[in-house]
Amino acid sequence: MKIAKFGGSSVATASQIKKVCDIIISDPERRLVVVSAPGKSCDEDTKVTDLLIACANAYLANENVEREINAVFTRYQEIAHGLNLSNGIINEIAKDLHMRLQSNADNPGRLVDALKASGEDNCAKLIAAYLRSIDVDATYIDPKEAGMLLSDEYGNARLLPESYTKLKKLKDKSGIMIFPGFFGYTPDGTLVTFSRGGSDITGSILAAAVDASLYENFTDVDSVFVANPKVVSNPKAIPNVTYREMRELAYAGFTVLHEETLVPVYKAGIPVCIKNTNNPSAPGTLITKQHKAVNSPVTGIACDSGFCSINVRKFLMNREIGFGRKILQILEDEGISYEHSPSGIDDMSIVLKQKQLRAGTEERILKRIQDELDVDDVYIEYDLALIIIVGEGMFHRVGVAATATSAIANAGISLEMINQGSSEISMMFAVKADNSDDSVRAIYQAFFEKH
Ligand code: ASP
Repeated sequence: MKIAKFGGSSVATASQIKKVCDIIISDPERRLVVVSAPGKSCDEDTKVTDLLIACANAYLANENVEREINAVFTRYQEIAHGLNLSNGIINEIAKDLHMRLQSNADNPGRLVDALKASGEDNCAKLIAAYLRSIDVDATYIDPKEAGMLLSDEYGNARLLPESYTKLKKLKDKSGIMIFPGFFGYTPDGTLVTFSRGGSDITGSILAAAVDASLYENFTDVDSVFVANPKVVSNPKAIPNVTYREMRELAYAGFTVLHEETLVPVYKAGIPVCIKNTNNPSAPGTLITKQHKAVNSPVTGIACDSGFCSINVRKFLMNREIGFGRKILQILEDEGISYEHSPSGIDDMSIVLKQKQLRAGTEERILKRIQDELDVDDVYIEYDLALIIIVGEGMFHRVGVAATATSAIANAGISLEMINQGSSEISMMFAVKADNSDDSVRAIYQAFFEKH
């Protein structure tokens, strides 16, 4: 059995859904299908999930929500008409939206999740109904009945491991199963969603649960590219990438997969293929445990902005036992996670996502570091971008850092920081956010064009 997951742009309109159904029917192994909520069919469109969030927020602010409900309803109506489905199913959707608002009114977190999840839930019902209307044996699967059990964290839920035994039973069902992505239920029956883009995670969990032969993730690009096509023109495609490489790339701005997607399939060793709904015969990008062949030391170049660095300097820091722990404890007390921590003998930098520094946090952190660790200097450097070059082929390969740093230097850009983990699968370069695109272009040219 293969798991096929279709993202928002693949189910944005009736004609896209027809393509999705053709893809499903064309391979008898595609029996368990995960769908997102209808996304954007063009730049001017709004994703149904965003419309639903706006609706929940308006409701919580005691505003009239008819406009927002209508916007959602109209999207489904257009899709249903394009698929020649009866009005019955559309009326059900309208009733469902009102019911979700009313029955969760006393708890904002629960209300937002219940509304958000309706995007995928109603989309799955529509697609199952359409398949039946063209005489295909298809059933909508309710994540509650199937046993998609998640932790009690609104908008950021995680899988509870006991789900696997329950979900495994899907293997025994016949016909095509349409499973809504993005949400599940806590053990006490409350609906919770993953973080945004989380339908990818649903597909991965199901693939691991039924021990699928392949997890196909259908989106709107032919493959994953070595660098962001909005930054580098016509970047090379990546035919094959390992789980570890993809995890690093997804973390740092490769938005093609949610960054938590790969955990379940990685553990189960199930390959993942990223494919294009609009061009299903293109080979796509295959994600596996090992490379089939390594040609370049670098597989991909990712870049993400919105970081800052707390820089600390103290003479003879290296002699002070517990120094690093004490700084990290201060961050832990503030509930802040960090991404990198490059250090020298007398200095240490802690790179973190800037949005975690809310009003008051910065002053408290700086004051505590100054007072409790008696440092010579501590300050925060804002608006950094992290460029991550990723490749299993970098392991024990001489000169990779030199090639990247020379490229950045030759572009006249000052490098703020370098970090390489012991696995040698990735290397991080921090630059000022304004310089990030030029740096990515320079690194791309150095590794992929100058041969
Ligand atoms: N519809 C949700 C979102 O836009 C989840 C998903 O598409 O994966 O975030």
